[in-house]
Amino acid sequence: MLLENRVALVTGGSRGIGRAICLALAAQGASVVVNYRSREPEAQAVVDQMVAGGGRHVAVSGDVGQPGVASELVESCVRRFGSVDILVNNAGITRDGLVLRLSDERWREVMDTNLYGVFSCTRAASRFMVKRRWGRIVTIGSVAGQAGNPGQSSYCAAKAGVAGFTRAVARELAPRAITANVVAPGFITTEMTGDLDPETRRALLDRVPLGRAGTPEEVAAAVVFLCGEGAAYITGQVLVVDGGMLA
Ligand code: NAP
Repeated sequence: MLLENRVALVTGGSRGIGRAICLALAAQGASVVVNYRSREPEAQAVVDQMVAGGGRHVAVSGDVGQPGVASELVESCVRRFGSVDILVNNAGITRDGLVLRLSDERWREVMDTNLYGVFSCTRAASRFMVKRRWGRIVTIGSVAGQAGNPGQSSYCAAKAGVAGFTRAVARELAPRAITANVVAPGFITTEMTGDLDPETRRALLDRVPLGRAGTPEEVAAAVVFLCGEGAAYITGQVLVVDGGMLA
């Protein structure tokens, strides 16, 4: 197994892409801390499924957009499993609206979770990783950070932001053998995309050369690859998983 004896913290692991990432990391032998914001039963179901497959795993609540939460998550990871080797910054939200009408509050909600959450979790985890001289940080970005979607200015800004943040962090942490990369999905079937109207869905699918939406498992496979020894020489990159949308 690729990740035996590794400990992974996955933010927003209770549903969708985060859930698939937790299951894929556990299948490769990692112990997984499943962070979630509010949906405890879903997070516990992910833990139960992983435990049934073997290994030790746990769910920990916490809003990554709040100061102090990232340190608590990393501390609970180290307390329970003795380490944090892999951080997957997956938690993310959308608060759509045209820029002309977008409130400060909705802008800040997106920045808090999608940008501050990534910064604070990376800071907390890397403080531990530098001592171990090994680490993998993977942040879930989006093609929206490169292409721009009308009605999603805050989301696009945050996702472009995590790519720049990751390039800087990759250079800072490289001397300690810690890699930092972004996986940027396109149109993936999850709750986040579940309530799109049929017309928008059709328009999005028309832009995908492979002709279908991606699955959370297809994003998780890219994350697992970047966490393994085989990706030790890859850092500061954005790996796009979009069925060719940006090609
Ligand atoms: P989702 O189905 O809406 O799930 C979101 C997850 O994030 C849930 O586990 C949720 O926890 C958690 N979460 C939200 N805010 C949080 C916070 N402040 N603190 C901690 N956890 C929080 O979303 P998804 O579609 O799987 O998206 C996952 C990531 O992929 C996001 O970063 C998203 O931007 C990105 N992405 C998605 C797509 C797509 O097409 N779906 C495309 C590109 C990028 P609770 O269950 O407790 O609410």
